[in-house]
Amino acid sequence: MRGRKTLGLKKQILIKVVMPMLILTVLITVIAFFAFRSAMEKEVKTELKYLCDIFEYNFNEKYPGDFTKQGTDNIYIYKGETLLNDKNEMLDDIKRLCDIDVTVFYGDMRVLTTIEYESGKRISGTAVNLKVKQEVLDAKQAVFYNNVMVNGQTYFGYYKPLYNSDQTCIGMVFAGKAAASVSRSIFASVMPILLLFILCIAAAGIYTTRSSNSIVNRIYELKKSLDKVSGGKLDSVLDAQIFNHEDEISDVGRAVMGMQRALKELVELDALTKIYNRRYAENRLKEMFFKSSSQKAADSIAIGDIDFFKKVNDTYGHDAGDMVLEQTALLLKNEMASYGFVARWGGEEFLLVFDRTGYEESIGIINNILDKIRANKVCVGNDTFISVTMTFGVTKGISGEEPRYMFNRADRHLYTGKRGGRNQVVTDYENME
Ligand code: GH3
Ligand code: MG
Ligand code: MG
Repeated sequence: MRGRKTLGLKKQILIKVVMPMLILTVLITVIAFFAFRSAMEKEVKTELKYLCDIFEYNFNEKYPGDFTKQGTDNIYIYKGETLLNDKNEMLDDIKRLCDIDVTVFYGDMRVLTTIEYESGKRISGTAVNLKVKQEVLDAKQAVFYNNVMVNGQTYFGYYKPLYNSDQTCIGMVFAGKAAASVSRSIFASVMPILLLFILCIAAAGIYTTRSSNSIVNRIYELKKSLDKVSGGKLDSVLDAQIFNHEDEISDVGRAVMGMQRALKELVELDALTKIYNRRYAENRLKEMFFKSSSQKAADSIAIGDIDFFKKVNDTYGHDAGDMVLEQTALLLKNEMASYGFVARWGGEEFLLVFDRTGYEESIGIINNILDKIRANKVCVGNDTFISVTMTFGVTKGISGEEPRYMFNRADRHLYTGKRGGRNQVVTDYENME
């Protein structure tokens, strides 16, 4: 699996938490933008309508009388006695104070206006577009537009018809706010929300990363332990942080420990006697040989074989034979506990390894063990007790000598013992070559 191109758990968690939040933020921002736009539109409409009403009232107060037109080539528009041409002060004040453009129409023609060409010249003298003329002037009703084009610019605009005293519809007043400036204020309102969401997402991302780190690290430790198990290291200790919370991860940790134990038993122990098997003994001796500074596999080893064991099987049955093997193994294991270890070497053969005693002492211990075996009575059912004897070949560990030479020597001593009448311990001294 090494070198794969998939994302790690930490990144996956981060993406799975932060992605939906990002999508949510985009959605909320879009919805907020349109909600704000519609609210702003209503507000602008009310503002423009009031402004037209107030303007009309003040305009009539300042310039009482009806609109009249004089001249054919040069047109002069009067309001009562006042010539309106260039009387833009009132309109300019509104523009300066409220940032709202105002235009006064005579018919469909602009007479007074705050809207200017790029050159700075006012667009007075120009006509309103046909749609507005029809919908406001001809239909004699006030209309609000959210995208009316004036002088190449889009406006939110309110048009209100103006009447002379004889109720003839003589013109219009227009109040308009540039759409760009409305959009700017919408963005100004939405931006703080957007920033707040981005901050929340960043905080959530940091929080998620931190809290997922502890979980992911524990999973990572679990993986490391499993890697060790699959690499054959059955003695490794699981990292303590796997168990620092009582949850599924610590459950898996315990399962891994159970698996380690079960595998260790399968690999190292003999199924019948539950003492170490031959593979374990061989590996352990090799390890001792290569690791010890004196290059010695053990102080001494012994191979012991039950005498006439075939007879036990033949006389009392295979199960009885098994029981003798189990009991003998248990006895050997208990007796060897302080001096080294014991393993089942073959059918009814056992290997005894001494790594904490000198050669002489180990010979004494084996003789002692043999005495106990002779005295031991194994119950094989129906009040039947049997005892067995064993023959041992025991040899000294020599520095620089590989384990197999020790095995061979111990085996030869054992053979000598068998030939010499069994039920005895044969050492390097009796069996010199
Ligand atoms: P010797 O004194 O020369 O060692 O004679 P022996 O009868 O003990 O040796 P032999 O090799 O002739 O027979 C060993 C017997 O051990 C034969 C085999 O059936 C028996 N045996 C091996 N493993 C087991 C086991 O796991 N259970 C039982 N019940 N018998 C076993
Ligand atoms: Mg035997
Ligand atoms: Mg044998």
